Amino acid sequence: MNKKMTSKVIRTIVIQAVLVIVTITVVGGAVITHQKYKSTPDPDSTTSSVQDSTSQSTEVTDTQSTSSSTSQQPTQSDEEEASSTEPTYDSNKYPYGYAGFMPEITDTSVDISKILVNGKYSLPENYKPTLAEAVKGSGVMLDYRVAPYYQAMYDAAKADGITLTPVSGYRSYQRQTNNFENRIKENMNAGLDRKEATIKAATVIMVPGSSEHNAGLAMDICSLSESFENTKEFEWLNENAANYGFILRYPKDAESREITGVVYEPWHYRYVGIETAKDIKAKGVTLEEYLGKA
Ligand SMILES: [Zn+2]
Repeated sequence: MNKKMTSKVIRTIVIQAVLVIVTITVVGGAVITHQKYKSTPDPDSTTSSVQDSTSQSTEVTDTQSTSSSTSQQPTQSDEEEASSTEPTYDSNKYPYGYAGFMPEITDTSVDISKILVNGKYSLPENYKPTLAEAVKGSGVMLDYRVAPYYQAMYDAAKADGITLTPVSGYRSYQRQTNNFENRIKENMNAGLDRKEATIKAATVIMVPGSSEHNAGLAMDICSLSESFENTKEFEWLNENAANYGFILRYPKDAESREITGVVYEPWHYRYVGIETAKDIKAKGVTLEEYLGKA
């Protein structure tokens, strides 16, 4: 009897123990599964994997972006120091937010004439237009939708004895970043802190993503000097550029400069399409005003 009782008790204990183990396993397993599930949409890993897949054009680009992100590390410590007084912002979204540069991402899916790129509307970092040579043999590139119009304008000018040398067309976001970072470093070497150095750099070099050259939509023609306005090439452009879809993007008058945020650049022409270019010229407005985003 005692032995039977004992074995019954043991069996009960064993069954209960098994139940407890099963329960722990099932519940524990569920918790682990849940944690695994929760950890999947990690914003950091998502972001980095997106960046990896988009920056695959050349290995050089990858190396450069790595080195530039390393060089930006002092920025983050500056941000932390300043965070008590400065408004908060997402430093991934706004790499130069610490200096007040927090542009909206511009819509690049719209018609080419309506793509607005400036200090307030910036290109996404991974924006890479399909390119074509602006003038055969020049090696200077533009968006493939723009290049044929530049070639046509170049040929027409040539027939009039005018050479519209393409000086600077498409410039990659990465190259813009390198130029900008180098300028910041120069300013810092001259004694400015990073924020001051960045603000000063932006008066000379457009913040990465905010230059029309990063979109392949603009060409610097012949010269980078204001005296270009006194040349026969400038005169020809003034008369004919709109017929090929190009506008003088940064006019001389103070009101326009205020609106575009850029000084007078008689050499910088932006493609907006023939109809829009003629319309903008006739109305004497900036692209910002024309698009209702002044
Ligand atoms: Zn330019």
